[in-house]
Amino acid sequence: MRAALVLCLLGSCSLPEEQPLSEYKFTESHMGTKVGVTLYAPSPEKADEAAHAAFAEIAAIDARMSDYKPESELSRLSASAGSGPQKVSLELLEVLTASQHYSELSGGAFDVTVGHLVRLWRRARKERRMPSPEELRTAIVMTGSKNLRLDPAARTAELAKSGMILDLGAIAKGYACDRALAVLARHGLTSAFVDTGGGMALGDPPPGRPGWRIRVADTEQILVLSRCGVSTSGDWDQFVILDGKRYSHIVDPSTGLGLTRRELVTVLAPDGMSADALSTTISVLGPERGLRLAEDLPGVEAWMRWEEAGRPCTATTPGFTRKK
Ligand code: AMP
Ligand code: MG
Repeated sequence: MRAALVLCLLGSCSLPEEQPLSEYKFTESHMGTKVGVTLYAPSPEKADEAAHAAFAEIAAIDARMSDYKPESELSRLSASAGSGPQKVSLELLEVLTASQHYSELSGGAFDVTVGHLVRLWRRARKERRMPSPEELRTAIVMTGSKNLRLDPAARTAELAKSGMILDLGAIAKGYACDRALAVLARHGLTSAFVDTGGGMALGDPPPGRPGWRIRVADTEQILVLSRCGVSTSGDWDQFVILDGKRYSHIVDPSTGLGLTRRELVTVLAPDGMSADALSTTISVLGPERGLRLAEDLPGVEAWMRWEEAGRPCTATTPGFTRKK
């Protein structure tokens, strides 16, 4: 035993040869967007198998958490509003619990009960018509995270007001990225990243490199990152111009209006779900309160660009530039 140990320490043990890893990229459509998986694997077969499992995980999360699918667990929970506590899956409970956390942190700026408002603004984009004050009032009344009650011990969720609608569009993609990354890790592939356009989760760096090269929003700035989440929120493609004002698909639950500051926010956070929730939260809070919130949170950095009197302004948390 001792002799064997000494030999090993001298480096003469015959360990199994490590296979060199190559980069593989995959793309599929899920959650209404293109999802990219980039990973390092020892063989194409291993890469295919793991990517297939990661996409299956994302599809399962979408089937559970989409507000577009009437049969999703989320839609069924919305349909039960006003009928008392409902049993929910651990996954949905996890995302709803995180949502309530960000709602509390932001004084209600982040709110997954915004379903009515979001639908109102989806219609406004389609019909290019400002929602009426009456429609806005009704939708605001149906919004409010205090009327979403969670009981982790009983594993239930309750929408206390009949007619409330949940919308996880600001957080579910980040969660899906985290879960997909975890699936890849279970297949032994930890050098990977999963990207849903706005939000991504990064695993270990590519072999022999310090991290993944990630571009900040639409800038030329490149960050080298690993083991974290990155998310960008903004109205670059989902907006409507009414009376010369540009309204974003992100709404301020306190006014019921789509945001008009033309913001672009990129957040770095310990995981994809936090980054996703926070990029939306910071958008609603605006530059001053939003960046202050990011600064107070451990492991979180943010970059933001917005318009003031027609002029573009940029600001970041102090630690953001140190990430370069
Ligand atoms: P993201 O692209 O992650 O910023 O998410 C934007 C999506 O989140 C919107 O399309 C809505 O579905 C939803 N949403 C809009 N406003 C809010 C809000 N104040 N809190 C939570 N979700 C929101
Ligand atoms: Mg988000």
